[in-house]
Amino acid sequence: VNIMDLFLKLRKAYPDRYSEIKKAHDFAREAHAGQKRSSGEDYFIHPCAVVEILADFGFDSSTVIAAFLHDVLEDTPVTADELRDMFGAEILSLVEGVTKLDKLQFNNREEAQAENFRKLFMALARDLRVIIIKLADRLHNMRSLEYLPPEKQQYISKETLDIYAPLAGRLGISFFKCELEDLAMKYLYPAEYEYIVSRTQEIRRQSQVFLEQICNTLTEELKKAEEALAESQDKYLRLVAEYDTFRKRSKIIAAVREFLDGRGYLEVDTPVLHTLEIGASARPFRTHHNALNLPMFLRIETELYLKRLIVGGMDRVYE
Ligand code: MN
Repeated sequence: VNIMDLFLKLRKAYPDRYSEIKKAHDFAREAHAGQKRSSGEDYFIHPCAVVEILADFGFDSSTVIAAFLHDVLEDTPVTADELRDMFGAEILSLVEGVTKLDKLQFNNREEAQAENFRKLFMALARDLRVIIIKLADRLHNMRSLEYLPPEKQQYISKETLDIYAPLAGRLGISFFKCELEDLAMKYLYPAEYEYIVSRTQEIRRQSQVFLEQICNTLTEELKKAEEALAESQDKYLRLVAEYDTFRKRSKIIAAVREFLDGRGYLEVDTPVLHTLEIGASARPFRTHHNALNLPMFLRIETELYLKRLIVGGMDRVYE
């Protein structure tokens, strides 16, 4: 647990109760001072890890505060009255709930007995948050089980498999359930666990190869599809360009018609009008620009747009 990261996380997730959370942290650290875990680490690592598991799951702020304090009644001289004075009745009742569950002894290994035990557990807890804290507590203890002697590993794993994992399943917290089961299996059925882990890794490796092949094929197909798309877009653009040309040409024709008085003749025999000549035999016509009858010669030069119109000797330049 990186305590700096944990506090950044807590400050972000629980801004309203951040000072209480800090107070619970300081109080619990003080209470557990000098205690060590089997791993040799400071004991206080454990409540911090439990808090982190719960905060990552987004459980409420009281659950997080109680998680910092969950072992102080059991393992330190702190009293219930002190906790109530410092943190109020809600937090006290959560911590007391967890402490009560800790004192339950799991002796009978029969499945039927385990069921009774689970019922008793639920009844004792009353507040579901007590069980949630207990599950997170168990999860961290299972994660650090390697530091305990083998008999304890067996006992705790069996209890985890019979009581805690099914409870987590019933509460619908499958993340807790699966990790608790996997960790317990590792200690109870090490050979089977190793076999399944290595087999799973092998299957995963094979799937990886298969997936990479699919990925490569899909990438190639996508590339082809993209090229085809680009090509059809080109074709579309060419179509548009042709249409555009046609539209501009129509405008030119319309423009020419505007200069003729309606009965003048007009011959267009190229797809795009470049030059249009109306010879000397053309009838007199009238332009928009003046009302004069002009000599019988009209020449239009254009590249798509009407650019230059020569009427008789007079040039008109159209931009
Ligand atoms: Mn604990």
